Amino acid sequence: MPRKRFDLTFPPRQATKAITYHLVKDFDLVPNILRAAIQPGQEGRMLLELTGRKEDFEAGIAFLEAEGITVSPAASDIRLDEETCVLCGLCTAVCKPHALELAFEEGVLHFDKDKCVYCEACVIACPRRAITLSF
Ligand code: SF4
Ligand code: SF4
Repeated sequence: MPRKRFDLTFPPRQATKAITYHLVKDFDLVPNILRAAIQPGQEGRMLLELTGRKEDFEAGIAFLEAEGITVSPAASDIRLDEETCVLCGLCTAVCKPHALELAFEEGVLHFDKDKCVYCEACVIACPRRAITLSF
């Protein structure tokens, strides 16, 4: 079943609405909130992963937009400063979904965006501050 990630921006009046409930119940989509910064009365942000059928995606996103929520393809990203990285592998040890893999002989740290759940464990673990997370 297709899986997609979206950045959602909520206007202040919508920040507390139970949108995931409606996505499940009314549109047969499976939501997974990867990151959220939502406070009542303030503009909110959410990185949301949805799993479902193509036609359900379209209907679910139309519902969100009708609710005043801005929906765009996910731009959240992990950035690696290759100049700063010393290929120590500490970040790969804490990355539970195996989104980071060290190819030591190639001198490369590979990042698989589709596996990343934006937990920030690698950001915290890196002694060189070589990884940053944008949201
Ligand atoms: S944010 Fe979490 S899941 Fe993503 S690469 Fe870092 S440790 Fe892995
Ligand atoms: S923990 Fe930091 S320095 Fe070590 S491999 Fe990961 S990004 Fe590179």
